[in-house]
Amino acid sequence: MSTANNFKWTNYHSHTNFSDGKGEPELYALSAIKHKMYAYGFSCHSPVPFDTCWNMNYESLLDYRREINRLKKKYADQIKLFLGMEIDYIKNLVGLSRFKMLGLDYTIGAVHFLGYFEDGEAWDHSGGKPVYERGLKEIFGNDIKKLVKYYYEQVNDMVLKEKPDVIAHMDMIKKYNKGNYFFNENEKWYKDLVYETLELISKSNSIAEINTRGVLKGLEDEFYPSNFVIDKCKELNIKLCMNSDAHNSKDVMALIPEARALLKEKGYKEVFIFDEQGWHPIGIE
Ligand SMILES: [Zn+2]
Ligand SMILES: [Zn+2]
Repeated sequence: MSTANNFKWTNYHSHTNFSDGKGEPELYALSAIKHKMYAYGFSCHSPVPFDTCWNMNYESLLDYRREINRLKKKYADQIKLFLGMEIDYIKNLVGLSRFKMLGLDYTIGAVHFLGYFEDGEAWDHSGGKPVYERGLKEIFGNDIKKLVKYYYEQVNDMVLKEKPDVIAHMDMIKKYNKGNYFFNENEKWYKDLVYETLELISKSNSIAEINTRGVLKGLEDEFYPSNFVIDKCKELNIKLCMNSDAHNSKDVMALIPEARALLKEKGYKEVFIFDEQGWHPIGIE
């Protein structure tokens, strides 16, 4: 009989000081080893063609690859380490294909940018509640439905055109919505948008992640995606993996056991992990 102790714990979503995380990748590798994790992946934010305070620079890409490959070899007898990237999909500007030549082990596709302010500055909807409110007002005329619809359209485009291995925090447009501050997730218009995206994901090869970071940071009561979305994922046989979106080496496995417990409770029998055989399911028990 297997126990929680020999479960193959993994996390493929993490940010080090190559983008907006704290500390060098080696600290994360050591922390993952300490947590007896089976595999660990680095996924720093991809460079984008404008300045932000959290994306990697194009100039750092080769150093990033070199460092993760060095760690892979150094700790090969203790943990499986992988080179990934959380790549921003920005309509008409940048997508996953641009980073193909890096030879990433896997890709996480994410939508963080949803338009531009009048001065040309790109708007990051995940950049804090005041910034969210500003984008909602100045770019979407305070029309929350228009904004949310636009977000899911971008996720849909990314799923169809870019085919990422993993879809990052699929419903992160709810990031500052605790207490239904901006909209009610139970309303039909919202559920219809979510279900449309889930249908597309279910027909793709992409895996959706349970991302624990919003709960860890106290922003959310439920993970990304919300519980009702996870229920629908099960109905549609959507593949899931569990990630902590760590920005600090101490968070390599933060709330992942809780995510596993939730999936078990919801009747999920397997989750997807990545190793030298690629993505494949393992029993959740
Ligand atoms: Zn992200
Ligand atoms: Zn992330």
